[in-house]
Amino acid sequence: MTHFEKAPAKINLSLDVLSKRTDGEYNVEMIMTSIDLADRIELTTLEEDRIIVSLWSRYVPNDERNLAYKAASILKEKYNLNKGIHIKIDKCIPVSAGLGGGSTDAAAVLRGLNKIWDLNISMEELAVIGAEIDSDVPYCIYSSTAIAKGRGEIIEPLPSPPSSWVVLAKPNIGVSTKAIFKQVDLDSLSHPNTEEVIDALHEQDFEKLCSNIGNSLEDITTSLHPEVNRIKEKMTLSGAEGVLMSGSGPTVYGLVKQESKAQRIYNSMKGFCSDVHIVRILG
Ligand code: ATP
Repeated sequence: MTHFEKAPAKINLSLDVLSKRTDGEYNVEMIMTSIDLADRIELTTLEEDRIIVSLWSRYVPNDERNLAYKAASILKEKYNLNKGIHIKIDKCIPVSAGLGGGSTDAAAVLRGLNKIWDLNISMEELAVIGAEIDSDVPYCIYSSTAIAKGRGEIIEPLPSPPSSWVVLAKPNIGVSTKAIFKQVDLDSLSHPNTEEVIDALHEQDFEKLCSNIGNSLEDITTSLHPEVNRIKEKMTLSGAEGVLMSGSGPTVYGLVKQESKAQRIYNSMKGFCSDVHIVRILG
């Protein structure tokens, strides 16, 4: 039996780091929305009790370090399942980019196996299981638009942004989320206005959204990788209405209302940066 799941990437409309927890992790508040750039996950049941992951990427391992593998492995262990699965990942989301590629693959595997193995696990429970894999997995279980709190495991749905285009530009570097969090100094961190972003979503006010998107990690990543700032400047000069780094970076996105303008910005970013995409917000 074969089953397909779409695994959409996300962008952060906000990312705030609030406080350090006793377990050494950080309490965060992140508003995320999914975009129509996605990996495609093909799940095929196997006769033998094993997990196989196949994908073509020199940046992503295909063994137990793969988050999709981890998702299947945790589910088998938790529910005592002697079942086998072949996970094929058609990787379209740039890796180590701040777009949640690994987390969305893991979430898609959890959703897909829940269906093909008839496990009847609720979305809430899948999100709890997902939190054991990575902090972005609970959000990716639901996708759409939501605020994630705590370590990322508390999810509250939000209205999706007004219909718009997103231009993504990634410099030719990968950024490790762990390495960026190691540099966090709570005393000197800037904070986005999360409440204003939430209001803008409720009011469907595109201009208000664009002027309030913000990311506490941006200063850290840009100080280590100045090219991120150069891409932000270029994206702003090209006319994007809201410009921000997603996640821990290095991908920068520009929000644009009109398709023709988004296309022009895409073309001008193409001459500046190797990895550029033009996508829509999935909502
Ligand atoms: P986030 O925004 O959630 O921090 P990211 O987009 O910055 O994530 P990923 O693309 O998820 O980063 O990759 C981060 C690391 O996870 C890389 O070192 C990668 O090798 C590893 N990884 C494990 N499994 C996967 C997967 N299925 N897809 C992508 N990366 C994976």
